[in-house]
Amino acid sequence: MRAKGFSAQGFNIIFDWTFEYRTEELKMHDVIIIGGGAAGLTAAIYAVRAGMNVFILEKMGVGGQIILTDTVENYPGFPLISGPDLMERFEEHVKKFGVEIKYEEVKDIRSNGNTHIVVTDDQEYETICVIVASGSQPRKLRVPGEDKFIGRGVSYCAVCDGPFYRDKEVAVIGGGDAAIKESLYLTQIVKKITVIHRRDQLRAEKILQEQAFSNPKVDFIWNHVVESVDGEDAFKGITIQNVQKLDQKKKLDVGGVFVYIGHIPNTKFINVDKTSNGLILTHPCTLETSARGIFAAGDCRDTCLRQIATCVGDGAIAAFNAGEYVEKFKSGHL
Ligand code: NAP
Repeated sequence: MRAKGFSAQGFNIIFDWTFEYRTEELKMHDVIIIGGGAAGLTAAIYAVRAGMNVFILEKMGVGGQIILTDTVENYPGFPLISGPDLMERFEEHVKKFGVEIKYEEVKDIRSNGNTHIVVTDDQEYETICVIVASGSQPRKLRVPGEDKFIGRGVSYCAVCDGPFYRDKEVAVIGGGDAAIKESLYLTQIVKKITVIHRRDQLRAEKILQEQAFSNPKVDFIWNHVVESVDGEDAFKGITIQNVQKLDQKKKLDVGGVFVYIGHIPNTKFINVDKTSNGLILTHPCTLETSARGIFAAGDCRDTCLRQIATCVGDGAIAAFNAGEYVEKFKSGHL
């Protein structure tokens, strides 16, 4: 069959040869899920139970951002559980259904007519559907000194790095759920926390605000942003700037700074319609993206609430609709 490609009939035949080679070498999958966080793991459970041939591609480790969280109190059925423990249960659940998790980083998704080629740092896979559940990563301050002191003064994970700052004074930057929740976690370890927020009102949910306001270890500096992370060889605190009185700056002599100013979606590898911040735009009902057969779920998509519960919901919806798509594809009704 392949030898036909070398006939003297020119490019078309050679293209045929290339096509045959691909289809023989690449096994066709029903669904490939990109990302092993709450959305991706849930999608895998729904997809495999719907009889689809599915596997997960994960760049680093299973669990997503939730494994960086000390305690989870708002996931139904688990009044109090640690982030890593909860995600371990998700992973066990997925493995119980025999879904394979491959540790490869996705670099590109190419269209291949009616199917898609998922390109990783290791190989290529052909699939009818893709569910992108690639999550997000912490947003950086982008101020002088930040990069230099990552891991030795600057942290984006209180659960991972909190113990290095035992009995020290630290600053937490941000006013959202993550900043306040992680400040409360740090109260168990450090001597004092100063939360620095760019406005005079927190964005975090009320219950977290109340806990922080009533904790004697937590102080607030309002209407300030970080101007620089200071120090030559060793971390020497931060300089903050009043956003209302631009001539007012302060040096804070803290032992470390924890940054919680939101997240950036991991979506560079995929070429579909996105917001200016890189969040994937999806159909409100099916979660299909602007590319047919590619769905998005969880923190990487443009949505108004980012919680474990919403990621789980997204994973289920995306997998259900991917299943319908695969069925139509196989029965020739696309
Ligand atoms: P977020 O809700 O987007 O909050 C980011 C915070 O950082 C905001 O207060 C924002 O200020 C501030 N900020 C943004 N850019 C800044 C900059 N350049 N300099 C200084 N401050 C800046 O992000 P998040 O707290 O990471 O939460 C992300 C999502 O996860 C949210 O949907 C959240 O509800 C969810 N989450 C939930 C929990 C939970 O326990 N329920 C825990 C963690 C996260 P402004 O307020 O002025 O915009």
